[in-house]
Amino acid sequence: MIMTNSEIKIKNSFNLPCYTNTLYEIESNKDFLKVDCKKSDEFLIIGECTNLVLPTKLNKKVIKSKNSSINKISSTLYRVGSAVNWNDFVLSVIEDNRFGIENLIGIPGSVGAAPVQNIGAYGVQVSDFIKSINIYDIEDKTFKKLLKDQCDFGYRSSIFQTKPYFIIDIDFEFSHIEKLNMDYEGIRRLISSQNKDIKSITSKELGEIISELRDSKLPNPKIIPNVGSFFKNPIINEKSISYNNFKKTDLIIWDHNKFNVKVGAGRLIELIKSTLNKESIDNLHSSHALIITNKNNISYDDIIKISLDIQSKVYKEFNIHLEIEPTII
Ligand SMILES: Cc1cc2nc3c(=O)[nH]c(=O)nc-3n(C[C@H](O)[C@H](O)[C@H](O)COP(=O)(O)OP(=O)(O)OC[C@H]3O[C@@H](n4cnc5c(N)ncnc54)[C@H](O)[C@@H]3O)c2cc1C
Repeated sequence: MIMTNSEIKIKNSFNLPCYTNTLYEIESNKDFLKVDCKKSDEFLIIGECTNLVLPTKLNKKVIKSKNSSINKISSTLYRVGSAVNWNDFVLSVIEDNRFGIENLIGIPGSVGAAPVQNIGAYGVQVSDFIKSINIYDIEDKTFKKLLKDQCDFGYRSSIFQTKPYFIIDIDFEFSHIEKLNMDYEGIRRLISSQNKDIKSITSKELGEIISELRDSKLPNPKIIPNVGSFFKNPIINEKSISYNNFKKTDLIIWDHNKFNVKVGAGRLIELIKSTLNKESIDNLHSSHALIITNKNNISYDDIIKISLDIQSKVYKEFNIHLEIEPTII
Protein backbone atom coordinates (compact mmCIF):
# COMPACT_ATOMS: atom_id res chain seq x y z
CA MET A 1 0.00 0.00 0.00
CA ILE A 2 1.27 3.52 -0.77
CA MET A 3 0.38 6.43 1.47
CA THR A 4 1.05 9.97 0.36
CA ASN A 5 0.25 12.88 2.59
CA SER A 6 2.30 15.85 3.71
CA GLU A 7 2.41 14.74 7.35
CA ILE A 8 2.77 10.98 7.81
CA LYS A 9 4.10 10.53 11.34
CA ILE A 10 6.96 8.07 11.90
CA LYS A 11 6.82 6.77 15.46
CA ASN A 12 10.23 6.05 16.95
CA SER A 13 11.65 4.88 20.30
CA PHE A 14 13.55 8.17 20.81
CA ASN A 15 10.17 9.93 20.71
CA LEU A 16 11.46 12.52 18.23
CA PRO A 17 8.88 14.23 16.03
CA CYS A 18 9.34 12.89 12.49
CA TYR A 19 7.21 13.23 9.34
CA THR A 20 7.48 11.96 5.78
CA ASN A 21 5.21 12.48 2.79
CA THR A 22 5.45 8.99 1.25
CA LEU A 23 5.16 5.62 2.96
CA TYR A 24 5.25 2.31 1.09
CA GLU A 25 4.00 -0.70 3.04
CA ILE A 26 5.23 -3.93 1.46
CA GLU A 27 2.82 -6.83 1.95
CA SER A 28 3.95 -9.01 -0.97
CA ASN A 29 6.70 -8.94 -3.62
CA LYS A 30 4.41 -7.33 -6.21
CA ASP A 31 4.24 -4.20 -4.01
CA PHE A 32 7.88 -3.46 -4.90
CA LEU A 33 6.69 -2.60 -8.43
CA LYS A 34 5.08 0.54 -6.99
CA VAL A 35 8.24 1.71 -5.19
CA ASP A 36 9.41 4.70 -7.14
CA CYS A 37 12.99 5.19 -5.89
CA LYS A 38 16.18 5.08 -7.91
CA LYS A 39 19.02 6.11 -5.60
CA SER A 40 19.81 5.19 -1.98
CA ASP A 41 19.49 8.77 -0.72
CA GLU A 42 15.84 8.92 -1.87
CA PHE A 43 14.48 6.33 0.57
CA LEU A 44 14.71 4.95 4.10
CA ILE A 45 13.78 1.40 5.05
CA ILE A 46 12.35 1.21 8.57
CA GLY A 47 11.36 -1.54 10.97
CA GLU A 48 10.11 -0.51 14.43
CA CYS A 49 12.44 2.56 14.57
CA THR A 50 14.22 1.54 17.79
CA ASN A 51 17.66 2.20 16.36
CA LEU A 52 17.13 5.34 14.31
CA VAL A 53 17.72 9.00 15.10
CA LEU A 54 15.24 10.82 12.89
CA PRO A 55 14.93 14.47 11.84
CA THR A 56 11.58 16.28 12.02
CA LYS A 57 11.21 16.60 8.26
CA LEU A 58 12.30 13.37 6.63
CA ASN A 59 13.03 14.21 3.01
CA LYS A 60 12.94 10.56 2.04
CA LYS A 61 10.31 8.05 1.00
CA VAL A 62 9.84 5.48 3.74
CA ILE A 63 9.59 1.74 2.98
CA LYS A 64 8.29 -0.67 5.62
CA SER A 65 7.65 -4.41 5.65
CA LYS A 66 4.24 -5.87 6.48
CA ASN A 67 5.45 -9.46 6.13
CA SER A 68 4.68 -11.05 9.49
CA SER A 69 4.71 -14.72 8.54
CA ILE A 70 6.59 -17.45 10.40
CA ASN A 71 6.92 -20.73 8.44
CA LYS A 72 8.56 -23.83 9.80
CA ILE A 73 10.36 -25.38 6.85
CA SER A 74 11.74 -28.29 8.89
CA SER A 75 12.08 -29.10 12.59
CA THR A 76 15.05 -26.73 12.94
CA LEU A 77 14.63 -24.31 10.01
CA TYR A 78 12.29 -21.28 10.15
CA ARG A 79 11.51 -18.74 7.38
CA VAL A 80 10.52 -15.52 9.13
CA GLY A 81 9.03 -12.36 7.62
CA SER A 82 10.85 -9.07 8.28
CA ALA A 83 7.90 -7.41 10.04
CA VAL A 84 7.73 -10.03 12.82
CA ASN A 85 8.68 -8.58 16.21
CA TRP A 86 12.12 -9.95 17.18
CA ASN A 87 11.23 -10.83 20.77
CA ASP A 88 7.97 -12.56 19.78
CA PHE A 89 10.02 -14.74 17.43
CA VAL A 90 12.64 -15.54 20.14
CA LEU A 91 9.87 -16.55 22.57
CA SER A 92 8.28 -18.85 19.98
CA VAL A 93 11.63 -20.58 19.29
CA ILE A 94 12.23 -21.13 23.01
CA GLU A 95 8.67 -22.50 23.31
CA ASP A 96 9.51 -24.96 20.48
CA ASN A 97 12.52 -26.28 22.44
CA ARG A 98 15.08 -25.10 19.91
CA PHE A 99 18.25 -23.73 21.43
CA GLY A 100 20.89 -20.99 21.22
CA ILE A 101 18.83 -17.85 20.79
CA GLU A 102 17.91 -17.30 24.48
CA ASN A 103 20.72 -14.70 24.90
CA LEU A 104 19.01 -12.43 22.35
CA ILE A 105 15.73 -12.28 24.27
CA GLY A 106 14.22 -8.82 24.85
CA ILE A 107 16.07 -6.91 22.11
CA PRO A 108 13.57 -4.39 20.74
CA GLY A 109 12.75 -4.15 17.04
CA SER A 110 11.86 -6.29 14.06
CA VAL A 111 13.28 -9.49 12.56
CA GLY A 112 14.14 -7.60 9.33
CA ALA A 113 16.43 -5.15 11.11
CA ALA A 114 18.23 -7.82 13.16
CA PRO A 115 20.89 -8.68 10.53
CA VAL A 116 21.48 -5.02 9.59
CA GLN A 117 23.68 -4.33 12.61
CA ASN A 118 24.03 -8.04 13.41
CA ILE A 119 22.29 -7.60 16.77
CA GLY A 120 24.07 -9.19 19.66
CA ALA A 121 23.97 -9.57 23.42
CA TYR A 122 25.56 -11.70 26.15
CA GLY A 123 28.08 -13.42 23.88
CA VAL A 124 25.69 -14.30 21.02
CA GLN A 125 24.88 -12.56 17.74
CA VAL A 126 22.05 -13.09 15.28
CA SER A 127 24.38 -14.15 12.46
CA ASP A 128 25.09 -17.34 14.49
CA PHE A 129 21.63 -18.58 13.40
CA ILE A 130 21.17 -17.14 9.90
CA LYS A 131 21.25 -19.51 6.95
CA SER A 132 20.16 -17.15 4.16
CA ILE A 133 18.26 -13.91 3.54
CA ASN A 134 15.84 -13.04 0.73
CA ILE A 135 16.20 -9.42 -0.35
CA TYR A 136 14.94 -6.96 -2.93
CA ASP A 137 17.57 -4.61 -4.37
CA ILE A 138 15.75 -1.28 -4.55
CA GLU A 139 18.23 0.28 -7.00
CA ASP A 140 18.62 -2.74 -9.35
CA LYS A 141 14.98 -3.77 -8.92
CA THR A 142 15.97 -7.44 -8.57
CA PHE A 143 15.26 -10.18 -6.03
CA LYS A 144 18.23 -12.09 -4.57
CA LYS A 145 18.96 -14.78 -2.01
CA LEU A 146 22.10 -14.08 0.05
CA LEU A 147 23.74 -16.96 1.87
CA LYS A 148 25.17 -16.16 5.31
CA ASP A 149 28.74 -15.95 3.93
CA GLN A 150 27.63 -13.25 1.47
CA CYS A 151 26.32 -10.95 4.23
CA ASP A 152 29.77 -9.77 5.52
CA PHE A 153 28.71 -10.11 9.15
CA GLY A 154 31.01 -8.52 11.75
CA TYR A 155 30.66 -6.92 15.19
CA ARG A 156 27.51 -4.74 14.82
CA SER A 157 28.00 -4.67 11.05
CA SER A 158 26.85 -6.31 7.82
CA ILE A 159 26.52 -5.71 4.09
CA PHE A 160 23.01 -4.29 4.71
CA GLN A 161 24.48 -1.08 6.16
CA THR A 162 25.90 -0.10 2.77
CA LYS A 163 23.67 -1.70 0.12
CA PRO A 164 20.14 -0.72 -0.97
CA TYR A 165 18.75 -4.12 0.08
CA PHE A 166 15.26 -4.52 1.54
CA ILE A 167 15.17 -7.65 3.71
CA ILE A 168 12.02 -9.62 2.86
CA ASP A 169 12.48 -12.72 4.99
CA ILE A 170 15.20 -14.67 6.74
CA ASP A 171 15.93 -18.41 7.06
CA PHE A 172 17.09 -19.18 10.60
CA GLU A 173 18.51 -22.52 11.72
CA PHE A 174 18.57 -23.58 15.38
CA SER A 175 19.90 -26.56 17.23
CA HIS A 176 17.70 -29.25 18.72
CA ILE A 177 20.57 -30.07 21.09
CA GLU A 178 20.24 -28.32 24.44
CA LYS A 179 23.48 -26.32 24.44
CA LEU A 180 23.20 -23.00 26.26
CA ASN A 181 25.69 -20.12 26.19
CA MET A 182 26.37 -19.03 29.77
CA ASP A 183 29.95 -17.77 29.35
CA TYR A 184 29.00 -14.15 30.08
CA GLU A 185 30.09 -13.25 33.61
CA GLY A 186 26.88 -11.39 34.53
CA ILE A 187 24.81 -14.48 33.69
CA ARG A 188 26.97 -16.73 35.89
CA ARG A 189 26.85 -14.22 38.75
CA LEU A 190 23.05 -14.01 38.65
CA ILE A 191 22.66 -17.81 38.48
CA SER A 192 24.85 -18.30 41.53
CA SER A 193 23.16 -15.44 43.43
CA GLN A 194 19.85 -17.27 42.90
CA ASN A 195 21.44 -20.49 44.26
CA LYS A 196 20.75 -22.32 40.99
CA ASP A 197 22.92 -25.09 39.58
CA ILE A 198 24.37 -23.92 36.25
CA LYS A 199 24.25 -27.49 34.89
CA SER A 200 20.50 -27.81 35.31
CA ILE A 201 19.41 -24.42 33.87
CA THR A 202 16.81 -24.84 31.09
CA SER A 203 16.57 -22.62 28.04
CA LYS A 204 13.41 -20.99 29.42
CA GLU A 205 15.20 -20.22 32.71
CA LEU A 206 18.19 -18.75 30.85
CA GLY A 207 15.77 -16.53 28.90
CA GLU A 208 14.25 -15.34 32.20
CA ILE A 209 17.70 -14.67 33.70
CA ILE A 210 18.71 -12.60 30.68
CA SER A 211 15.42 -10.67 30.75
CA GLU A 212 16.10 -9.89 34.42
CA LEU A 213 19.64 -8.72 33.61
CA ARG A 214 18.38 -6.51 30.78
CA ASP A 215 15.55 -5.02 32.86
CA SER A 216 17.99 -4.14 35.64
CA LYS A 217 20.25 -2.17 33.28
CA LEU A 218 18.33 -0.95 30.24
CA PRO A 219 15.57 1.65 30.24
CA ASN A 220 12.28 0.57 28.66
CA PRO A 221 11.94 2.90 25.64
CA LYS A 222 8.16 3.08 26.18
CA ILE A 223 8.84 4.77 29.52
CA ILE A 224 12.21 6.48 28.93
CA PRO A 225 12.71 7.10 25.19
CA ASN A 226 16.07 5.81 23.89
CA VAL A 227 17.67 3.79 21.07
CA GLY A 228 19.76 1.41 23.19
CA SER A 229 23.57 1.67 23.22
CA PHE A 230 24.55 4.85 21.45
CA PHE A 231 28.17 3.80 20.77
CA LYS A 232 29.87 0.56 19.72
CA ASN A 233 32.55 -0.95 21.92
CA PRO A 234 35.72 0.18 20.10
CA ILE A 235 38.01 -2.49 18.66
CA ILE A 236 41.52 -1.07 18.71
CA ASN A 237 45.21 -1.80 19.17
CA GLU A 238 45.77 -1.70 22.94
CA LYS A 239 49.01 0.27 22.53
CA SER A 240 47.12 3.21 21.03
CA ILE A 241 45.21 3.91 24.29
CA SER A 242 46.37 7.00 26.25
CA TYR A 243 46.20 7.02 30.02
CA ASN A 244 46.24 10.59 31.29
CA ASN A 245 44.11 10.61 34.41
CA PHE A 246 43.32 6.87 34.59
CA LYS A 247 45.09 3.53 34.53
CA LYS A 248 44.57 0.38 32.48
CA THR A 249 42.69 -1.40 35.28
CA ASP A 250 40.04 1.37 35.29
CA LEU A 251 38.96 0.25 31.79
CA ILE A 252 37.14 -2.89 30.71
CA ILE A 253 39.26 -4.59 28.06
CA TRP A 254 38.42 -7.91 26.37
CA ASP A 255 40.69 -9.90 24.03
CA HIS A 256 39.39 -9.60 20.46
CA ASN A 257 41.96 -11.04 18.05
CA LYS A 258 45.75 -11.30 17.58
CA PHE A 259 46.07 -7.57 16.91
CA ASN A 260 43.22 -5.83 18.71
CA VAL A 261 41.26 -5.64 21.95
CA LYS A 262 37.63 -4.63 22.49
CA VAL A 263 37.12 -1.84 25.05
CA GLY A 264 33.91 -1.30 27.05
CA ALA A 265 32.54 2.01 25.74
CA GLY A 266 30.15 2.44 28.70
CA ARG A 267 33.05 2.43 31.19
CA LEU A 268 34.99 5.01 29.11
CA ILE A 269 31.97 7.33 29.28
CA GLU A 270 31.48 6.76 33.02
CA LEU A 271 35.11 7.71 33.62
CA ILE A 272 34.86 11.07 31.80
CA LYS A 273 31.21 11.74 32.74
CA SER A 274 32.01 14.59 35.16
CA THR A 275 33.74 16.54 32.33
CA LEU A 276 30.67 16.44 30.04
CA ASN A 277 28.31 19.37 29.48
CA LYS A 278 25.31 19.53 31.84
CA GLU A 279 22.84 18.61 29.08
CA SER A 280 24.87 15.50 28.24
CA ILE A 281 25.05 14.41 31.89
CA ASP A 282 21.30 15.01 32.38
CA ASN A 283 20.41 12.79 29.41
CA LEU A 284 22.71 9.83 30.08
CA HIS A 285 20.87 6.90 31.64
CA SER A 286 21.81 6.67 35.34
CA SER A 287 22.57 2.92 35.34
CA HIS A 288 24.03 2.65 31.82
CA ALA A 289 26.24 5.48 30.53
CA LEU A 290 26.14 4.05 26.99
CA ILE A 291 22.51 5.07 26.65
CA ILE A 292 21.43 8.58 25.73
CA THR A 293 17.83 9.10 26.81
CA ASN A 294 15.21 11.62 25.82
CA LYS A 295 13.52 12.24 29.16
CA ASN A 296 13.31 16.00 28.70
CA ASN A 297 11.92 16.29 25.15
CA ILE A 298 15.29 17.13 23.68
CA SER A 299 15.63 17.65 19.93
CA TYR A 300 17.49 15.87 17.13
CA ASP A 301 20.13 18.65 17.28
CA ASP A 302 20.53 18.20 21.05
CA ILE A 303 21.17 14.49 20.57
CA ILE A 304 23.86 15.18 17.97
CA LYS A 305 25.44 17.78 20.31
CA ILE A 306 25.46 15.30 23.22
CA SER A 307 27.04 12.56 21.09
CA LEU A 308 29.77 14.95 19.85
CA ASP A 309 30.46 16.07 23.42
CA ILE A 310 30.91 12.45 24.53
CA GLN A 311 33.04 11.53 21.50
CA SER A 312 35.38 14.50 21.91
CA LYS A 313 35.91 14.03 25.68
CA VAL A 314 36.55 10.28 25.33
CA TYR A 315 38.97 10.97 22.47
CA LYS A 316 40.81 13.65 24.45
CA GLU A 317 41.19 11.42 27.50
CA PHE A 318 41.91 8.03 25.92
CA ASN A 319 42.77 8.69 22.25
CA ILE A 320 39.81 6.42 21.40
CA HIS A 321 37.21 7.28 18.76
CA LEU A 322 33.71 6.10 19.70
CA GLU A 323 31.66 5.03 16.69
CA ILE A 324 27.91 5.71 16.79
CA GLU A 325 25.76 2.54 16.76
CA PRO A 326 22.26 3.69 15.68
CA THR A 327 21.59 5.04 12.20
CA ILE A 328 21.51 8.84 12.23
CA ILE A 329 19.43 10.24 9.37
C1 LIG B 1 16.32 -0.41 25.00
C2 LIG B 1 17.06 -0.92 23.79
C3 LIG B 1 17.92 -2.00 23.94
C4 LIG B 1 18.62 -2.48 22.83
N1 LIG B 1 19.46 -3.56 23.02
C5 LIG B 1 20.18 -4.03 21.99
C6 LIG B 1 21.06 -5.14 22.18
O1 LIG B 1 21.16 -5.73 23.26
N2 LIG B 1 21.79 -5.55 21.11
C7 LIG B 1 21.67 -4.95 19.89
O2 LIG B 1 22.38 -5.38 18.96
N3 LIG B 1 20.82 -3.92 19.67
C8 LIG B 1 20.08 -3.44 20.68
N4 LIG B 1 19.23 -2.38 20.50
C9 LIG B 1 19.10 -1.77 19.16
C10 LIG B 1 17.86 -2.27 18.36
O3 LIG B 1 17.04 -3.04 19.16
C11 LIG B 1 18.30 -3.10 17.14
O4 LIG B 1 19.16 -2.37 16.31
C12 LIG B 1 17.08 -3.59 16.32
O5 LIG B 1 17.52 -4.54 15.39
C13 LIG B 1 16.36 -2.44 15.60
O6 LIG B 1 15.16 -2.94 15.03
P1 LIG B 1 14.08 -1.99 14.37
O7 LIG B 1 13.06 -2.83 13.71
O8 LIG B 1 13.59 -1.04 15.37
O9 LIG B 1 14.97 -1.27 13.26
P2 LIG B 1 14.93 0.27 12.83
O10 LIG B 1 15.40 1.10 13.97
O11 LIG B 1 13.63 0.61 12.22
O12 LIG B 1 16.06 0.27 11.70
C14 LIG B 1 17.42 -0.02 12.07
C15 LIG B 1 18.25 -0.17 10.77
O13 LIG B 1 17.81 -1.32 10.05
C16 LIG B 1 17.38 -0.96 8.73
N5 LIG B 1 16.22 -1.83 8.42
C17 LIG B 1 15.09 -2.01 9.15
N6 LIG B 1 14.28 -2.93 8.57
C18 LIG B 1 14.92 -3.34 7.44
C19 LIG B 1 14.59 -4.26 6.37
N7 LIG B 1 13.45 -4.97 6.35
N8 LIG B 1 15.48 -4.39 5.34
C20 LIG B 1 16.64 -3.69 5.32
N9 LIG B 1 17.01 -2.81 6.29
C21 LIG B 1 16.16 -2.64 7.33
C22 LIG B 1 17.04 0.53 8.81
O14 LIG B 1 17.18 1.16 7.54
C23 LIG B 1 18.06 1.03 9.80
O15 LIG B 1 19.31 1.24 9.18
C24 LIG B 1 18.48 -1.88 21.56
C25 LIG B 1 17.58 -0.80 21.41
C26 LIG B 1 16.88 -0.32 22.51
C27 LIG B 1 15.92 0.82 22.34
